[in-house]
Amino acid sequence: MNLVVLAISTFSSSDQATEERDVFTSAQTTASSIIFTQRESLAYTTRYSMWLAGLVTKREVEISRAILAQRLNVIDIENLSMGARLDPEFLNALRVSDSLLSISPDGLLPRANVAPIKVQAQEFITTILGASRSLVVAYQQELDSHLVAVAEKRQRESLQNLALLVSLMILTSIFIVWGGIRFLRQVKRTQHYIDSELRALEITRDELSKVNLTVLTLEDLNETKNDFISTVNHELRTPLTSIIGYIELLKSEIEPGKSSQIDLIIDVVDKNAMVLLDLVESILSLSRLDSRQKTPLFEEVNLIDTVEKAVFVLTPQADLSQVEIKLDLNHDNDFLVMGDPNQLSQVFLNLISNAVKFSPEKSEVLITFSRVLNEQMDDYISVSIADTGIGIPEKEIPELFHRFFRASNAINNQIVGTGLGLAIVAKIVEIHNGTISVSSEENIGSTFRVEIPAYLSPLDQKILDKRIDVLQRAITAIRDVELSGLKDTCHEIGGALGIYGLDELGSKVLELSRELAAGACEESKVAAQRVSLLEMLDKTYQRLSERGKK
Ligand code: ADP
Repeated sequence: MNLVVLAISTFSSSDQATEERDVFTSAQTTASSIIFTQRESLAYTTRYSMWLAGLVTKREVEISRAILAQRLNVIDIENLSMGARLDPEFLNALRVSDSLLSISPDGLLPRANVAPIKVQAQEFITTILGASRSLVVAYQQELDSHLVAVAEKRQRESLQNLALLVSLMILTSIFIVWGGIRFLRQVKRTQHYIDSELRALEITRDELSKVNLTVLTLEDLNETKNDFISTVNHELRTPLTSIIGYIELLKSEIEPGKSSQIDLIIDVVDKNAMVLLDLVESILSLSRLDSRQKTPLFEEVNLIDTVEKAVFVLTPQADLSQVEIKLDLNHDNDFLVMGDPNQLSQVFLNLISNAVKFSPEKSEVLITFSRVLNEQMDDYISVSIADTGIGIPEKEIPELFHRFFRASNAINNQIVGTGLGLAIVAKIVEIHNGTISVSSEENIGSTFRVEIPAYLSPLDQKILDKRIDVLQRAITAIRDVELSGLKDTCHEIGGALGIYGLDELGSKVLELSRELAAGACEESKVAAQRVSLLEMLDKTYQRLSERGKK
């Protein structure tokens, strides 16, 4: 804004200067013409007087008159002739002088002619000189008033510019002060905000260190509790083992069938001692798993071997209740994971013994293995243990892995247990970065599924890294091939996907190839199948690329 005003004021000043320059130029040229006119008038009247005095000839007077006439015809800068500026009396006087001159003889004026002309000549000479002088004076006055007007205008404009500049300065100052106040207020507000943030940060930091302290205290307490539990359980286990030993001795000492009541008492004591031992062992296992100091040393573990050993151990218990444990071993692959063999063995012992314990007589427990990809496309070994036992009430499923939890139907059916087996399983699975899930229906049966990250040899790892390229090629090939060539392409690609660990996708692709080979499909149906196959491949491709980014 300041710049705009400054430009306006500069522009008006320069306009004013131009105007003044024009005024002075015009005054200069007009003044020169007027002065020349006065000079020529003087020269003419002087010649005329000299002619009257018989000093110069008529010719010389006429020359002066011609020069004056010429001067009077000159047009000045204001587009006026000098004659037009002069008093009409001047022109009348000139006309009189001309008529007197014209009737006079050429050459010097004869003495006799002087007297009649002289009086008239005196008169018009005075008029001419007076009028030419008034011309100068009048112009001088005109010029003065013009200059005064210009000066006044300039003064007025200067005052206007000054007023403009002053108001501008006032406005600018107001703006600067207003801006400054606003800025200061903003700074204050920001400072206040920073202060309160800092205070909040300080409080949070304090709370965090308090929480940290609490966590450390709780961890210490937990450690102490674990130590205490371990000690108590060790102390309990020793007399308990001794009790169990004495029960065995008692059993061997007493003749079987001699006293049914004693047999019953010994059986009850034996069963309860075993439950107590199971409880002590479970609590010890859990406190060992809870203790953070003992991180297990992982090694390659073949889950088929682990499960087979657990089945072997549990076969007598299964035989007792006539439950058949079936293993689905229809696989060429090993199911290798990285883990602690003892802990993993504990997982399957607990799960299979539960399956047997909660199954009716003459039923079946089926154990299956598979290799799966989770949502993030990581490879997992999945083992599921399915029974057709009492199942679990739906509402109680979420609590299943809590310590000491026992489902209501297990309690009602008086099936012995401690409620710690599944908690141990969950803890071990967690340590192995795996997952455990359960699907169950009361009186129909339960399936527990354990998934542990698969062990990948460096070669496996390389193959898996190539998955995304193979998938990309599969998508391009299936998308671009003619319908007539789709069968062969699918056959080829289905196998490749299987090799690269994308079994499920591979078998879907092979299925389409088989259908095409059977030749039973209509063209439109094949096209639709190709589209849905491509969608599936693309989804997996997206997941793999997301995983790659992570
Ligand atoms: P326990 O078997 O010693 O009671 P667990 O922790 O192993 O303790 O199991 C907790 C509870 O989960 C069991 O008491 C039972 O109610 C339920 N449960 C576990 N496995 C099964 C199964 N296969 N079928 C039915 N219920 C089961």
